[in-house]
Amino acid sequence: MPETFPAPPELYAEVAVPAAVTQTYTYRIPAAYHAMAGPGCRVVVPFGRQTLIGYVVAIHEQLPAALAAKPAGQPSAVKDIADWIDETPVINDEILKLTQWVADYYYAPWGETLKVALPPGLDVRLEDWIELTEDGRRAVQAGSVSPRTRNGRLLAWLVEVGGAVRLDDLPPDRFGKNPRQVARELEHLGLVSLTTRTGEATVRLKRRLVVRRIERPADQPERPLSPAQARVLAYLDETPTALVSELVAEAEVSPAVLRQMAKKGLVEIVPETIRRNPLAHLAPLPAEPAPELTPEQRQACEAVLAAHDSGRFRTFLLHGVTGSGKTEVYLAAISAVLQRGGSALMLVPEIGLTPLLARRLIQRFGSLVALLHSSLSPGERVDEWERIRSGDARVVIGTRSAVFAPLVNLRLIVVDEEHDTSYKQSESVPHYHGRDIAILRASRLNCPVILGSATPAIETFQHTVVGKYTRLELPQRIGNRSLPEVTLVDMREVFKRHREPRFISDELQTAIAETCSQGEQVMVLLNRRGFASCWLCRACGFVMGCPYCSVTLTYHRTDHYLACHYCGYTTPPPGRCPECQGEGIAYVGEGTEQLEARLRELFPTLAIARLDRDTTRRRGAFERIFNDFASGSLNILVGTQMIAKGHDFPNVTLVGVVSVDAGLMMPDFRAPERTFQLIAQVAGRAGRGDRPGRVIVQTYRPEHYALATGCQQDYRAFFEQELIQRQAAYYPPFCVLATVIIRHERELEGQALGEKVAELLRAAIPQAASADAPLRVLGPAPAPLARLRGEYRFQILLKGRQRMQIRHALGHMLPALTDTERRHVFIEIDPIDL
Ligand code: ADP
Ligand code: ZN
Repeated sequence: MPETFPAPPELYAEVAVPAAVTQTYTYRIPAAYHAMAGPGCRVVVPFGRQTLIGYVVAIHEQLPAALAAKPAGQPSAVKDIADWIDETPVINDEILKLTQWVADYYYAPWGETLKVALPPGLDVRLEDWIELTEDGRRAVQAGSVSPRTRNGRLLAWLVEVGGAVRLDDLPPDRFGKNPRQVARELEHLGLVSLTTRTGEATVRLKRRLVVRRIERPADQPERPLSPAQARVLAYLDETPTALVSELVAEAEVSPAVLRQMAKKGLVEIVPETIRRNPLAHLAPLPAEPAPELTPEQRQACEAVLAAHDSGRFRTFLLHGVTGSGKTEVYLAAISAVLQRGGSALMLVPEIGLTPLLARRLIQRFGSLVALLHSSLSPGERVDEWERIRSGDARVVIGTRSAVFAPLVNLRLIVVDEEHDTSYKQSESVPHYHGRDIAILRASRLNCPVILGSATPAIETFQHTVVGKYTRLELPQRIGNRSLPEVTLVDMREVFKRHREPRFISDELQTAIAETCSQGEQVMVLLNRRGFASCWLCRACGFVMGCPYCSVTLTYHRTDHYLACHYCGYTTPPPGRCPECQGEGIAYVGEGTEQLEARLRELFPTLAIARLDRDTTRRRGAFERIFNDFASGSLNILVGTQMIAKGHDFPNVTLVGVVSVDAGLMMPDFRAPERTFQLIAQVAGRAGRGDRPGRVIVQTYRPEHYALATGCQQDYRAFFEQELIQRQAAYYPPFCVLATVIIRHERELEGQALGEKVAELLRAAIPQAASADAPLRVLGPAPAPLARLRGEYRFQILLKGRQRMQIRHALGHMLPALTDTERRHVFIEIDPIDL
């Protein structure tokens, strides 16, 4: 009887690639990598004609049936993994499942979602590294090191693990039979050092390359810089010691540019090990014991801890005006969770604007705190992420994408300013909402989540009304400090008085002059987002709205017409006001630049700075302008609502809101909510010191309920009014929304595809019916940005009573599209900018 031998084991990896695809792909794992094969590792895979870094999401011991069913004799379509990057997983099981859910919910590629969950600096750029070292280049020229060879892989791996590893810990097979020999080869090339102590050999990467600016002597003439060189120097102004890979990514230059600059003596490239501390520049707050909580604060904290202790998921809304002590509740709850052995995650909208919050956390929790946000350099983010992953950092404060931070034993999530729109990722895929993912993550972990706000999102507050969330109220400001007085200036009167539109009313002008003459500071802001302009009567305040959708019509300047972006209704702009027959009707939409110019005319002797997207493109620009303002060297800060967030400026006693109307009249059903939030937020900014503050709001619509309730800072009254509007026009929280955007270079084809998509969606309506309401499909209509980067954009709006109705219709529509058509179709679930 001949012996039977088992076939050599086969392993396959299911890989999510960061590309615009909805499925994952199966690759064969070469035997050399079997030892480290596991989900959560990054791998290099061939993908079409590209080579991509993908993420292993599952391991199969057999080829999946669908792929195995190939007729015999035909070559297998399954390709091999080209390289295995991670020895141990960089993505844990929890984050793997969470991202899968997020990808599915938002119709986004899983690979793209995983990419968002990892710090951007994590990817090794071995090629750059080799390009930049003398030794490295010599080695490449000699053909002795390349990313594909064993020694190249060992280098990459050393970069990954932080620069050093014991030879005994190296995976067998990965670097050939004799890793010591590979390490010796590299040592010979001057790239690593090999040390043996008490019998243990350790291989250490000699160089981590950093780039530093060289100060040029004054007598040396300045040579003109290329734009790329200028970007590098500008970046180094902010980050004096930068990683090579960081400059390549952030200043968008090639390593060759850096090498040239080094030759010219503009920068030096030196090997150095740095461990950056992103908190280093924050002056520490003096250590102070936590204050004794007020009875309301204690109650709130205890409710959260009760949920924590019973291991139950629960969503809390902590509702209280600015200064009512919400942050102290977060801190107390976090502290208690830490004492019980857990860790905590705190999301904030924009950390750059709230350094005080980070400082308060550090004051309380010291080195347990890690910071994750987009204005850290990639290197800093990797460092912080490693501390979180290892369990060294147990309190994470971060912006949106920090919701994916791999905390060990996460037991509490806090979402501060939960209503803030910056939690929604609108620019790129996946279009996720940080707050909603936080709630989902807490539910999967069976732990509490606290949403905090002075002006909760209508949906959030409604959830507390129906009992889905638990509401905790902090009704008073700590120390009973009063809120500033908010007054409205009726711009219709101003128009009548002067017979021409005025940017700044006499009332506001006088108040600015008074405030500055007393040595106090002023913020002037314009509530205006980007592109939309409305058609408004300056005499009576009438605004052109859609007869069907209860939103404002948007003026399209190029073709001179008004359009509704929900249903597609269009009309030419009227010459006279349909309401008062006056001629004051015109489009409004001045920007912050004009506002700044006008203020300079009115107050030529005052120091004025502007803060908006244009002036803060550069890294650190925010901080610089804010610091100038905080130091008192500026009298007036002009900007968009950006300036209303965060920061505590005790010397600001006046805030002027110029033209609240453009924001209020946005063609977005949430415009009143945003306006109310803005006024409440602004009121929280003025007079935070000992002196009382005041707020002046200019408007053509003083009777609008968002303004009237905003002045009183009466959230409840606003909520009641707004809920009536939402119900009448069938908007959230009474329905769920999704948009389908068609983007096409050719207008007619885009329009035709939009109609096809809408028709497919409408065809699914009968099956998508729910007990209490049908699915509604509106459009196609020109999108709010009807043309962007040479593309025409059409929008279809879906409204469903239940989420399943929308999923059903999308599930019916998508498979009916050709691959080419599918590339023009973009889905957004729960959009916030319509
Ligand atoms: P919010 O987050 O609601 O704006 P904070 O928690 O920042 O409010 O509290 C506002 C101010 O009151 C802070 O200076 C804070 O230190 C202080 N504070 C908060 N709670 C207490 C308390 N129980 N006793 C004394 N001071 C407190
Ligand atoms: Zn409409």
